[in-house]
Amino acid sequence: AEVPGAAQADVRQRWTELAEAVDAAQFAYYVRDAPTISDAEYDDLLRELEALEEAHPDLRVPESPTQRVGGTYSTDFATVQHRQPMQSLDDVFSLEELREWAARVHAAAGRTDVAMTCELKIDGLAVNLLYEDGRLVRAATRGDGRTGEDVTLNVRTIGSVPQQLDGDHHPVSIEIRGEVFFPVSAFEELNASLVAAGKAPFANPRNSAAGSLRQKDPKVTASRALDMIAHGVGAVDWGEAGPPVRWSSQSHLYEQLQAWGVPVSSHTRVVDSREAVEEMITHYGEHRHTVEHEIDGIVIKVDDFALQRQMGSTSRAPRWAAAYKYPPEEVNTKLLDIRVQV
Ligand code: NAD
Repeated sequence: AEVPGAAQADVRQRWTELAEAVDAAQFAYYVRDAPTISDAEYDDLLRELEALEEAHPDLRVPESPTQRVGGTYSTDFATVQHRQPMQSLDDVFSLEELREWAARVHAAAGRTDVAMTCELKIDGLAVNLLYEDGRLVRAATRGDGRTGEDVTLNVRTIGSVPQQLDGDHHPVSIEIRGEVFFPVSAFEELNASLVAAGKAPFANPRNSAAGSLRQKDPKVTASRALDMIAHGVGAVDWGEAGPPVRWSSQSHLYEQLQAWGVPVSSHTRVVDSREAVEEMITHYGEHRHTVEHEIDGIVIKVDDFALQRQMGSTSRAPRWAAAYKYPPEEVNTKLLDIRVQV
């Protein structure tokens, strides 16, 4: 017999299955640094969840994985509240979806020649570096976006992260956000040495970066060739004196970070046409492996801060940025090679 509302029960059942699968994958990925499914499979689960919620908006509850920054934190570390939440990025998987995003930017700006930064999407893990009067005082992982793990001692072992900002004018406090990553060449050596020591190798450079940074013993982190590239800021307090100059754009911010000795990407371009954005996507799609770190896409950001503020954010990601994701590559054959060599 037909039970009224049965379809809805089916839908709820599927929603629960998907949400639980996403939660389990997130735990394996963010806490254990050992994913149980591929990124493409994970992205498919999230996409199905999004489609389900699109068709049944009552399922889109605040606790849904679609509404929050993916991730959590481990009790192995002291926790840190970010002064300003750390967000994720909205993914686009085709040029068509990217054009829809750009059309929303153009509508908000009232014109089509809007300057945007095109940046490599570094496949590492996000960190939040708190500088007070130019001195690094704390470093934390993204965690669930509001609360992260205190990895200060570990981050202090990364040579490219300045302990002290260059120059004279520094904010009273500033949260500098960036990506900690493992250079591809060093990753292969690390995995070979782990295998030689009878330990499990990491699935990919991203997991090796997360696993190396989230070590209880900073000496282990110090022995790993981690690097960092900054891609934004959180809370900034210039105190009563105010900023010496007002940062007007993302690219202007990168110039300032660089002047302070904070590493920023040399691959970033500022462009104002669709053709130029798509050219960057095509170029790095073909030259992915010439970059020193792994990339999983291209991040496109509205350059102008006033327009960024005007567009604002959702609960999990800014509306003024989009992450174009490259199609997944084959499973890491290098890893398999290492196993074969054992
Ligand atoms: P995301 O990694 O796709 O994008 C957001 C992050 O990109 C930011 O937090 C930032 O740290 C980083 N980023 C890199 N370069 C940047 C740049 N130039 N500018 C700004 N930010 C930049 O989103 P997410 O929510 O952190 O994680 C989702 C990703 O993790 C997906 O790729 C997903 O497949 C993978 N994942 C996989 C599993 C699994 O089980 N395999 C589980 C969870 C997440």
